[in-house]
Amino acid sequence: MNKLVFTVAVMLLGMTSVHAQFGKFRGKKLDAITTAVTAFTVSDEEIAASATEAVKWMDENNPVCELNSKQKDMREYAERLERIFGPYKNYDGLDLNYKVYYVTDINAFACADGSVRVFSSLMDIMTDDELLAIIGHEIGHVKLEHTKNAYKQILLTEAASKYVGSTKGTVADLMNSDLGGMSQKLFGASFSRKQETDSDDYSYAFLVANGKNPQALADGFQKFADMEKEYGADKSLGAKMSSSHPDSEKRVKRVEDKIKKSAKK
Ligand SMILES: [Zn+2]
Repeated sequence: MNKLVFTVAVMLLGMTSVHAQFGKFRGKKLDAITTAVTAFTVSDEEIAASATEAVKWMDENNPVCELNSKQKDMREYAERLERIFGPYKNYDGLDLNYKVYYVTDINAFACADGSVRVFSSLMDIMTDDELLAIIGHEIGHVKLEHTKNAYKQILLTEAASKYVGSTKGTVADLMNSDLGGMSQKLFGASFSRKQETDSDDYSYAFLVANGKNPQALADGFQKFADMEKEYGADKSLGAKMSSSHPDSEKRVKRVEDKIKKSAKK
């Protein structure tokens, strides 16, 4: 009985942790923070510069698969991503760059400056078209400015807590004071469900526009759904894709409904 109560408590804690982070800014500190937020501004150029610095830090602190890596499988990951992503590096007026991280997490992320990073373990479980569908989703986050807006919010929030009551400090100071921590905060940015759905729609259109079958998007999500079923929505297993992202099963259904609808037209 005690064990059961404990489990439930932990689950609730997990579910409310997102709100708790915002909670600490409420209350008596609010006036000071509001002052700082209005005094501290973040320009588009500063967002782009901090994104570039952050992705540079990530590249330096993760094993990157290069076309000339000594290790054969690392070269193969780089070659495969080059083949899949290469044709789209200037897609939709964007200036995109991409790399593979040789890591066990099943993940991919996009950065406000157009950098997309794909993890080798994600490549292991996805076909080329499924991977392209996930890349399309990440490109959507860049093109629809989800990453830019999220970074802006994070920079403002960090500045507000760091430079509370003061108008001193710049985005560069903020980044330089803790580059690793800031990089992780930026890449840990979560998006709203609406943004996730909009990015899914972007990927769908991206696949169709490039002569690919949008079923690849549904199939990729189905793999996440299967993993969630097998392992639970564990943080270490593609959780980034499932924690903020809508339920994988629902995403599969949404994409498949869309395919059915378009077939009727
Ligand atoms: Zn997403």
